[in-house]
Amino acid sequence: MFCRNCGKEINETLNKCPFCGEPILKIKIKSYLLESILAAIVCNIIFGLIALYYSIKVKRALNMDMIEEAIKTSKSAKKWLIISAIAFFVELLLLIVSLFYSNV
Ligand SMILES: [Zn+2]
Repeated sequence: MFCRNCGKEINETLNKCPFCGEPILKIKIKSYLLESILAAIVCNIIFGLIALYYSIKVKRALNMDMIEEAIKTSKSAKKWLIISAIAFFVELLLLIVSLFYSNV
């Protein structure tokens, strides 16, 4: 990662930048990259891909040290992951219902 103050490359295990002394942010921002890929494959391809789009944006924002942007896009990725999970259960429910009625 890079220091937010001086821009020099620093080791993220440190608490302070060795060059200028700027404290290093320790907040973990989840990108949901793996979850999004799984959601696209298992749950719902469209909603999963939207989540994946946001998770890639989170990664990009983190690389550019845009913390606020990363937090915002991380929330969007999570929202679309939940939507794809809901869509999955609705589809499953519809499948069960249609199977039930076709057997009657
Ligand atoms: Zn620095």
